Amino acid sequence: MTPDDERFDAKTTVLIETVGHHVQEEETDWFPKVRDALGRKELQEIGARMRDVRATAPHRPEHPGSLRAADALLG
Ligand SMILES: [Zn+2]
Repeated sequence: MTPDDERFDAKTTVLIETVGHHVQEEETDWFPKVRDALGRKELQEIGARMRDVRATAPHRPEHPGSLRAADALLG
């Protein structure tokens, strides 16, 4: 879809609302639980791994390598 598509504004509005809701949920619900469950050291190690894989992660989500990068991060 391109920005001149008649559904673009509606789709974009829904996307913005959905992402906003997701972020809200993470910050108020999930992150505090993760912070409570994991120690500071483990969180720092996860952060370091994420920084490492960022270098090789694809920049376009539709790239076939996306799933492999996600596997590498989660595995
Ligand atoms: Zn998220």
